Amino acid sequence: MSEKRCPHCGKWTTWTQNLEDTCQHCHKSLGGRYLVEQKERIRKDQEKKREWIFKINQKDHPIVSFMKKAANLFYFVFFMIVSFIVWLIAALPG
Ligand SMILES: [Zn+2]
Repeated sequence: MSEKRCPHCGKWTTWTQNLEDTCQHCHKSLGGRYLVEQKERIRKDQEKKREWIFKINQKDHPIVSFMKKAANLFYFVFFMIVSFIVWLIAALPG
């Protein structure tokens, strides 16, 4: 248990080193800007992961959606192989 100056009201409040903790006085997040930035970073990472997957729309022609699904599967297998090779190189002695 330690104390931290609230970035919102400027009063000292107890916090458990947890960025999710809130101020005793104004009940706002003590993580403040840092917490917002961290959440934004996580969101962007998730978006990046989603980008390499083709989005399948309900309106797509069956052939188009099939092609997209096949491409997604190909990407998935490709990334699995690449990560396996990376793991293999890392696991090899020397
Ligand atoms: Zn406060």
